[in-house]
Parts: sequence; structure tokens; C-alpha cells
Amino acid sequence: MPSTLTSYKHILVAVDLTEECDPVIYRASASAEANGAKLSLIHIVEPMAMAFGGDVPMDLSQLQQQQFDQANERLERLIDKYSQLTTANCHLKFGQPRQEIHAFAIKEKCDLIVVGSHGRHGLALLLGSTANDVLHGAPCDVLAVSLKKSDD
Ligand code: AMP
Repeated sequence: MPSTLTSYKHILVAVDLTEECDPVIYRASASAEANGAKLSLIHIVEPMAMAFGGDVPMDLSQLQQQQFDQANERLERLIDKYSQLTTANCHLKFGQPRQEIHAFAIKEKCDLIVVGSHGRHGLALLLGSTANDVLHGAPCDVLAVSLKKSDD
């Protein structure tokens, strides 16, 4: 019988670094505390879309470095705010969120991934969401923390 009743040992919280990430971090750190689990946080800086085509010579590497630096600053603010977060358990990666989150979870043997979910509908549902993306093919359990506003 699968050991569904055993506690989680390593919880990974994925954040977009917007103000909406607070309830997601709160839920993940409360779960880590309740389970006596290790907590890790990850944010993925997505590669800039090659929206300008080949005709316009642009050095995207500088823009990407700025994106990365900005993400680092936001992450440092979170580390200051939450005693459970440190430079050692917070990780910044470049790439596609789903791919990088799954790869980290496998490598670090995480048994729960926590993400925020807007519970979108209509067109946004067709376009998909990061929470949906992470759920599909996830190597472990996924907890989607509802970010719905009361008027949604
Ligand atoms: P979204 O589908 O973009 O509204 O995001 C839903 C949730 O996916 C967020 O609350 C985060 O938990 C996670 N997420 C979105 N973007 C990222 C990212 N770049 N890195 C890590 N997690 C993310």
C-alpha cells in the first residue's frame, strides 16, 4: 500500500515573486512546519521571447541579466521577510517553469510542490496556467493554493 499517510519530507514552493506569492509561501512554510519537512523555494526567470525577429539587432543578454538581477532583489526581500527562507534554500533558475520545477523536485527529492492557482476560466483556461503546467507530469504531489479573489 502506498505510504500516503506518511508526512512530507521536502516541500518545494514555486513563486512568481509578485505580491501574490505571500499566501503560497505562507501555506508552504506552515505545511513544512507541520510535517517537520525541509522547505525550498524556487523562482524561474523565463527566457525573453525572441519577439523582435532577426532583422533588429538586439542584445537580449543584457535584458536577461536585468531580469535576473530584479528577481534576485525581490528574492532578497522575501528572505528578509520570512524567517524560514535563507539564501541557502532559495533558488533562481533560468528556463521554463514546468521543466525547471520538475527537474529541481527530482534532483532534490522533493515530495510536495506548492504553487498558487487562480482557478482561471474562459480564455485563460484555454491558454493554460503555470499551476496546470506544473501538475501535469509532476514527479510528486502538488498543492495548488487558491489565489481567487472573493469577486472572482
Ligand atoms: P500563473 O499561472 O502564472 O498565474 O502562476 C501560478 C503559480 O505558478 C504562481 O503562484 C507560482 O506558484 C507559480 N509560478 C508562476 N510563474 C512562476 C515562475 N516564473 N517561477 C516559479 N513559479 C512560478
